[in-house]
Amino acid sequence: MTHATIVSRSRDVSHQIHRSHRLIRQTCRLLAQMGELADEMQVAVADSRRLRHRSRCLAPHPISGGADDSVLVMEVLAEGTAVCADCLAKKTGIPRVEIPSVIARIGKTIRVQTPDVACVICLTIRTVYRVG
Ligand SMILES: [Zn+2]
Repeated sequence: MTHATIVSRSRDVSHQIHRSHRLIRQTCRLLAQMGELADEMQVAVADSRRLRHRSRCLAPHPISGGADDSVLVMEVLAEGTAVCADCLAKKTGIPRVEIPSVIARIGKTIRVQTPDVACVICLTIRTVYRVG
């Protein structure tokens, strides 16, 4: 191996080492940016969740109830939960007077029981609604 070849190979190795160090620094910067973006994303998702919840509370309910009301009630009554009309109204935002008509609509497709047992939310023993 000539002296010129050795010098040339040495420069190549030196160049590759510098390149690897540069890539490692870039990787560290990118990982740090990724961490910051993940944090920002978590904040954005939490904000979005809060906004969605607030908009649901602020949005006016349809005048004579609709399919949405049935869905809201069914979400509360899911898995056979026994809930009284007052608590259903509070949980869903549907006016208390409209609960029986929403239950009647649900009752056309699935069985809704009305036993006198403790409501799982207020724990008062009274007539509750339970599906199944
Ligand atoms: Zn209740």
